[in-house]
Amino acid sequence: MGLYKNLSDDIEEVDVIIAGGGTAGCAVAGRLAEADPTLSILVIEGGPNNYENPAIVTPAMFPTNLVPSSKNTLFYQSKKSDKLAGRGVIVPSGGTLGGGSSINFMAYTRAQRDDFDSWNTPGWTTDELYPFLRKVPESLSVSYFPQMIRPEADVTNSGTARNLRWPEK
Ligand SMILES: Cc1cc2nc3c(=O)[nH]c(=O)nc-3n(C[C@H](O)[C@H](O)[C@H](O)COP(=O)(O)OP(=O)(O)OC[C@H]3O[C@@H](n4cnc5c(N)ncnc54)[C@H](O)[C@@H]3O)c2cc1C
Repeated sequence: MGLYKNLSDDIEEVDVIIAGGGTAGCAVAGRLAEADPTLSILVIEGGPNNYENPAIVTPAMFPTNLVPSSKNTLFYQSKKSDKLAGRGVIVPSGGTLGGGSSINFMAYTRAQRDDFDSWNTPGWTTDELYPFLRKVPESLSVSYFPQMIRPEADVTNSGTARNLRWPEK
């Protein structure tokens, strides 16, 4: 694997091009490479390399990525909305290799059942996604996520935790 600022002369053709070396892009590239090591995969990332970047590898410095001058973050400006008293909002997003996962707060949660189901897309319902979503807490220490591993656990004291209790409908 190589990291290039300019496309290397010896790369004339690749099997797969992934636009954006963010969270999903890197995961897809990694999975494809694992599934078929003979594939040539080109990930095109618009932001800087995240390697040993202090604002990324030092958790206490994470908030610096929300400073408007941050080179690791893209700040999208939304349209103005009547629902926001005529204002728009600024939406920060990862703008470096690793994308949002390089600058996010590393908190794990899971969307509500309705969020997934509202996509209304076969293959992407809550029930179909659930086995994959479970992989995250299961790959970590069970003791951190008792309410996700054991949906029957008593976690009703927090709205967020309550939302983690599906798959029951
Ligand atoms: C400040 C912050 C805190 C967050 N905290 C949490 C958290 O605690 N827990 C949690 O689960 N989620 C959190 N998130 C959300 C989570 O990080 C994102 O939902 C996730 O990273 C999005 O992944 P993605 O692959 O869809 O997009 P991204 O990771 O944003 O990837 C998109 C990539 O495309 C690149 N790109 C954009 N335009 C171009 C272009 N024209 N050419 C080439 N490359 C381009 C970007 O630089 C970026 O690397 C947070 C996000 C932010 C911004």
